[in-house]
Amino acid sequence: MAVETDEKTIDGLCQKLQSYMSHEDIAAVRRAYDFAAKAHQGQTRLSGEPYISHPLAVAYILADLRLDAAAIIAGLLHDVVEDTSVSDSTIVQAFGAEVATLVDGVTKLKRIKFDSREEQQAENLRKMFMAMARDIRVLIIKLADRLHNMRTLKYQSPETQIRKARETLEIFAPLAHRLGINTIKWELEDLSLRYLNPQQYYRIVNLMARKRQEREQYIEGVIDVLREKLAELNLKADVSGRAKHIYSIYRKMVTQHKEFNEIYDLFAIRIIVESIKDCYGALGVVHTMWKPMPGRFKDYIAMPKANMYQSLHTTVIGPNGEPLEIQIRTWEMHQTAEYGIAAHWVYKESGSKRVEDDFAKKLAWFREVLEWQQDFRDAQEFMETLKIDLFSDQVFVFTPKGDVIELPAGSVPIDFAYRIHTDIGNHCIGAKVNGKMVPLDYRLRTGDIVEIITSKHSYGPSWDWLKIVQTSQAKSKIRQWFKREKREENVARGKELVEREVARQKFEPKQLMTPQAMSEVLQKFNFAREEDLFAAVGYGGLGPSQVVTRLVEIFRRNQGEKPPETVTIQKGTAKPAEMGVRVRGVDNILIRFARCCHPVPGDEIVGFVTRGRGVSVHRRDCPNVEAMVDSGARTLEVEWATDKDWSYNAEIEVTAMDRHGLVNEVLNAVAETKTDITAVSARADAKKIAHIHMSIRIRNLDHLRTVVERLKRIKDIYSVRRMIQ
Ligand code: MN
Repeated sequence: MAVETDEKTIDGLCQKLQSYMSHEDIAAVRRAYDFAAKAHQGQTRLSGEPYISHPLAVAYILADLRLDAAAIIAGLLHDVVEDTSVSDSTIVQAFGAEVATLVDGVTKLKRIKFDSREEQQAENLRKMFMAMARDIRVLIIKLADRLHNMRTLKYQSPETQIRKARETLEIFAPLAHRLGINTIKWELEDLSLRYLNPQQYYRIVNLMARKRQEREQYIEGVIDVLREKLAELNLKADVSGRAKHIYSIYRKMVTQHKEFNEIYDLFAIRIIVESIKDCYGALGVVHTMWKPMPGRFKDYIAMPKANMYQSLHTTVIGPNGEPLEIQIRTWEMHQTAEYGIAAHWVYKESGSKRVEDDFAKKLAWFREVLEWQQDFRDAQEFMETLKIDLFSDQVFVFTPKGDVIELPAGSVPIDFAYRIHTDIGNHCIGAKVNGKMVPLDYRLRTGDIVEIITSKHSYGPSWDWLKIVQTSQAKSKIRQWFKREKREENVARGKELVEREVARQKFEPKQLMTPQAMSEVLQKFNFAREEDLFAAVGYGGLGPSQVVTRLVEIFRRNQGEKPPETVTIQKGTAKPAEMGVRVRGVDNILIRFARCCHPVPGDEIVGFVTRGRGVSVHRRDCPNVEAMVDSGARTLEVEWATDKDWSYNAEIEVTAMDRHGLVNEVLNAVAETKTDITAVSARADAKKIAHIHMSIRIRNLDHLRTVVERLKRIKDIYSVRRMIQ
């Protein structure tokens, strides 16, 4: 975006808008301008100009990006709620809810403070920005706001200049990059460098200027020759030379330890043509005229970058014997490269890859929407699709010092407390959010400032906390505390939990918990005494259902010494309902689930009559079904009767890049979804791929999906599969 020196006026803005906006929309923009000018009446910028010059300049930037009327109006109004006596409801009345929401979004973003310098914090801030913005237009208005503030930074104090420039380089330029708005990104970077390292900045500017004079003729010559050759072949092309932006040269000098005169590609030639076919045609012309440098040709048309960037890049030995970079693209590709909202940062930047993959998908979708923009009848409809919910499964909150903490959605102040420090969690007695007391089960929202109130005399964590916390970290810390502090209580509680589970499964404790069965269970779970086992259940290290499932197995096995001979018809507390499967037209048939495919509610299922063992239920897609049908087995229509909270076995295999702590993370992730694990085995193969096999207890297919989705978010996971044995 060229720095515009000519005076900006509302007439000038409206003229700009005429190329793509209706008369009614332009009239509304004019009305917004009058409204803002009146609201800011008497206020001046540090430059001495009337304040309205700032929102007007922001609107100009937005118009360059061809944003819709609501965004332009919000750009004009973006400072009125914060800086004048105008209220939110006044804006709703005057300009409608959509504009008001945008203005409110920009106002909220002002709450975010930038005190931190750590890279991780910067990353969290960028994410928080996107999470809070919700509507991508809010983000773009904020970028335009920052851009104009950077353009007028010279009026600020030296300290403010440095602080703003650093923020811009750490937060705003990367955001512009993520959205693929290169014009804004470049200008923000150059302006930041100007204040952060003025010496280098002006040195490069001067060297460029000298170089430019020296090379201008040369580049002009190259452009002329190219135009001529392309015209000879009837290729309609726009050929231009452009200087690289200053910050990119500076980065090159710093990261590649190069001196200015060692950098050849200060200028690049760009050829813009009408069609993809012409791109390759133009490339042919270039390569016949000058010798291409080996290894420098990149076909981003056949292989677009992740952000959908497309172009042909080549470097040739130019007429003066120096390398010359040439980019070839269509007009459409050019548009994408300059203004597109895109996501190739995912591949360039480090960080938690899984989460960002998800984010990348959303942005990729976004990108597609932009491509289809032409097809949308209604600009309104298009803008609707820009309302996105990025990071819907995370929240970002502040410590009182201004650090950003990332937590899973639904987290409560206790999660926050344990994230800060175990002692703070253990001694937490209350919490304040944005200065007000809140209950401990308050669900944190992005942007909240959270303060934990602790007391030395607190009784420590409560069992109820386990039900409200979201993070596995908080859970395990709370359990640890109980394990350490409350042995007797744990034993009593554990015993009670096991007995309750026995009752839930419709047994009597004395039926299942025989001395013989108990000693077998102790051995299985590696405990010396019953007390230890109950204590473990008591503090939550072992699920009561894990114990009872084992006890029931032992009970059934002992019963099974005399297996039933025929299809058992049972009365009363019938097993079928408990298993959650009904055979159509028949009650009380013994049902069992096939061990090959472990069906769960939600799966399509089919039953087979087996000799002496009731009905065996398989998933319809189980490979064994076909074989059984072929062998003449009789099928039965079966259906789920899922009103019971019965849990079912599912076998899951996770493959991942083997690394330290992986298995723990996987187990914690499953625990976070409130899912019991009944067996785990893990091994790593020669290629450093970890295979983790788990048996888990799940309620239905949705539950299973939740678990699988959660697992997929773990870093370094390749695949998560449900197994058929
Ligand atoms: Mn502003």
